[in-house]
Amino acid sequence: MTQSDTLYCYVHPNRPTTLRCNRCERPICVDCAVLTPTGYRCRECVRAQQKIFDTAEWYDYIVAFITAAIGSAISSGLILIVSGFFFGILVLFIAPGAGAVIGNIVLRFIKNRRSRALFMTSAVGMVAGALPALILVSLPALVGLLSGGGVRGLAGLLPAIWEVVYLFMAVPAAYTQISGIRIGR
Ligand SMILES: [Zn+2]
Ligand SMILES: [Zn+2]
Repeated sequence: MTQSDTLYCYVHPNRPTTLRCNRCERPICVDCAVLTPTGYRCRECVRAQQKIFDTAEWYDYIVAFITAAIGSAISSGLILIVSGFFFGILVLFIAPGAGAVIGNIVLRFIKNRRSRALFMTSAVGMVAGALPALILVSLPALVGLLSGGGVRGLAGLLPAIWEVVYLFMAVPAAYTQISGIRIGR
């Protein structure tokens, strides 16, 4: 009886263990156990679970990146105009909305398919799309600073700072929209 009480890992039959996968109930050794939010699981079950949530097709990554980059290029250009000619503070109101709109458009193009890597790709696309505007506003200020512009040159960096503020607000907003992880809903 004592012999049948001893569990052996189903992948490594020579390893005694006390762990069981909490999904398929098979015994697993410490090397095979993966700690998930719901407890220890075997690698097979973790992979099977991931497949359910990971519905992204390979082309979704390209579509998401390009869509996010174009959307972000447009809105960062808008931020450029707003912070250059009006009040930079408007960025605080525009950025989250722009991020949500971009997220919505991306979501439509990828037909609600999802994977964590896809959400990240969209976020990277947004940063990439804002780079031209960011470089455009930073360059004259940096050149001015290097050629002895001093504090005046620093003031020229303000639009660039607003672009960074835009990114910090718009990217999480878009990420929330695409991933569907919302607070209070
Ligand atoms: Zn399992
Ligand atoms: Zn094992």
